[in-house]
Amino acid sequence: MNDRLNRLRNSMAKAGIDAVIVNSITSIRYLSNFTSDEAFVLVTKQRSLLITDFRYTIQAKDQSGDRYEILEASGEKQLALVHEALLDENVKTLGFEDDIVSFARYRSYEAFGVELVPFAKELNALRLIKTPDEIEALQKAQTLADQSFTELLTVIHAGMTEKRVAAELEYIGAKLGSEGPSFDTIVGSGPNGAMCHAVPGERKLQRGDLVVLDYGCLFNGYHSDMTRTFAVGEPDAFSSKIYEIVRTAQQKALDALRPGITGKQLDAIARDYIKEQGYGDCFGHSLGHGFGLLIHESPRAAVTCETVLEPGMTITVEPGIYIEGKLGVRIEDCCVVTETGKRNFCVSTKELQIIE
Ligand code: ZN
Ligand code: ZN
Repeated sequence: MNDRLNRLRNSMAKAGIDAVIVNSITSIRYLSNFTSDEAFVLVTKQRSLLITDFRYTIQAKDQSGDRYEILEASGEKQLALVHEALLDENVKTLGFEDDIVSFARYRSYEAFGVELVPFAKELNALRLIKTPDEIEALQKAQTLADQSFTELLTVIHAGMTEKRVAAELEYIGAKLGSEGPSFDTIVGSGPNGAMCHAVPGERKLQRGDLVVLDYGCLFNGYHSDMTRTFAVGEPDAFSSKIYEIVRTAQQKALDALRPGITGKQLDAIARDYIKEQGYGDCFGHSLGHGFGLLIHESPRAAVTCETVLEPGMTITVEPGIYIEGKLGVRIEDCCVVTETGKRNFCVSTKELQIIE
């Protein structure tokens, strides 16, 4: 945590700002270890303050008391304390989270009478390279997801609704120790699989379906992300063919994942292969994204991403083919870039699994 505060202050110095105010749960957690956003974190050149109300002060002292001054105030008084601290240090420039601050909140910051400097990009960049602790948490989150998938395949069957599949999966994850789903579980059966972000509904799994299952677990606030597509009964030749194209595309990109490659180049490896096979128009999303305290973080594996991947960056590899009215296939692993290549957090098989 000290290291994080040091890196934040370096980043502040580079941007020429005197202080930063933070209110998003992600940045509060990253910078202070406090797991609520009922608070403001203010970091100046001299002080690090965590301002929260009576309901949270014990928790704040436990989680952040070793590095932060914990101040108790409620409502409007919280910002009055921020204002006081800014005046004490004669702060002229204040960085703020321009990506999430509402207009109303912005107006209240304006009342400080200091120059407000957009600082979200710099704040989020602090999380770009994961530390060994973070990598361990991500691995634990994914291990829970792998275990959940294995168990799920033994309890689901034809005739079960998509909703029920999602509920079973989340229940299994919770039993194993996941803090919750890392995003809304996606279950797309049969033609619903063609909707990349299918919301689980009342459709029942039927023989002949491919089912796209995209979900994740949470460990210490860290998100995993994995997709597997499985078959209900023996798949037909067309379904098997599409599945194998996606699987090969994914493997090619995984094989190429190492430091030095750009997000754009990685994306192209899977995309070009799918194009060669004649399904370029059926892969309409990016190949992957970073993940950590948020499910979607930088960098990205996308046609527009020039970022050079470095050790410690996370990235998912998730090509797909979606054919309206018929089926969808997506296969996704979540990885971290290492010095020599990558570590794939996922171990679940990519042999097409068949349930009855
Ligand atoms: Zn996913
Ligand atoms: Zn993903």
